[in-house]
Amino acid sequence: MRETVTVTGASGYIALHVIALLLDEGYEVRGTLRDMARVEPLRAALARHTEVSNLSFVAADLTSDAGWDAAMTDCQYVMHVASPVPIVEPKNHEELIAPARDGTLRVLAAASRAGVRRVVMTSSNAAINSGHGGKSSFTEADWSILGDGTGAYASSKTIAERAAWDFVAGLPVDHGMELVAINPCVVLGPLIDPDGSASIELIRKLVAREVPGCPNLGFTIVDVRDVAAAHLAAMTSPQAAGNRYLCTTEFRWVAEIAQALNQTVGQRGYRVSTRRLPDWLLRCVALFDPAVRRMAPRLGERQEFDNSAIRRDLNWQPRKVEDSIVDTAESLIELGVV
Ligand code: NAP
Repeated sequence: MRETVTVTGASGYIALHVIALLLDEGYEVRGTLRDMARVEPLRAALARHTEVSNLSFVAADLTSDAGWDAAMTDCQYVMHVASPVPIVEPKNHEELIAPARDGTLRVLAAASRAGVRRVVMTSSNAAINSGHGGKSSFTEADWSILGDGTGAYASSKTIAERAAWDFVAGLPVDHGMELVAINPCVVLGPLIDPDGSASIELIRKLVAREVPGCPNLGFTIVDVRDVAAAHLAAMTSPQAAGNRYLCTTEFRWVAEIAQALNQTVGQRGYRVSTRRLPDWLLRCVALFDPAVRRMAPRLGERQEFDNSAIRRDLNWQPRKVEDSIVDTAESLIELGVV
């Protein structure tokens, strides 16, 4: 009999790739959605990539108990991907922390009641690298240090992941439900549905020429297809149980991202500005633009993340960063987003 995997937040950018891969691998997939009006558009979007006859949906919201037991019935694995990912952080951090933390606890409680074997949780590098001052290289042993300056998103991911580990540690010894956390950095790569994540906003803005140039900022990147592959390996690999895995490849400055775009989609009329924007300009814009304000403290900052554990334990072999950058832009163009 086919094994069943419940994927939370089935409308999301990463979740859709996880679902496509699970269906390709022959699993029965049950996706949770908070808006069931999205079922048919999502099914149609996935059908362009894979066979969807083993896919079903259940209504469930991270902020409510309703639906979670039905979502977990007779399932062996859970991919807990859902969590709010805002483009602009809310002033009230609880708007992100409550659904992330309480939703995770709802998912884990329902999973343990249903006798689920293993939960793979999509955490983030934001649960690892925030609040460390000048520290610039990180491993899975690091945890974000929450304080007054921590953003709402980093707080939500740190608190939710800690709550998950505490929940599993509190289960009876013979209970047997395992947890694995996958901690990606900035996720890029093709979209399955045009409603993409906040993480592809930079590429969208560059290709749509909504930014006048390149700020002195950079990101450590990972491809959404490789993040999905990491989730699948984390679900089945015996040695993954009880571990968190940084899921990341290499760092690129925005100017390097713009260059990669110009060498490819730029040749077909989507030229991106490679002009360097001075730091003082960004700091001025940050005074009135909350999305820029979030980035201003990271001007010139370069952080490195160790991915040796995921490569070793999960035999994870990510693709080249430039492919992820270019494939994001190609996909945005193909789907008519830009
Ligand atoms: P996304 O496309 O915005 O997906 C977020 C998903 O969470 C959506 O399905 C959304 O549902 C769901 N969600 C939000 N609030 C919810 C609630 N109250 N109840 C139920 N579902 C809710 O973002 P993504 O990039 O795929 O992110 C997926 C996961 O990866 C998140 O846990 C995120 O923290 C993590 N992550 C992302 C990145 C990145 O760079 N993209 C990096 C590290 C970690 P709706 O469609 O109904 O809003």
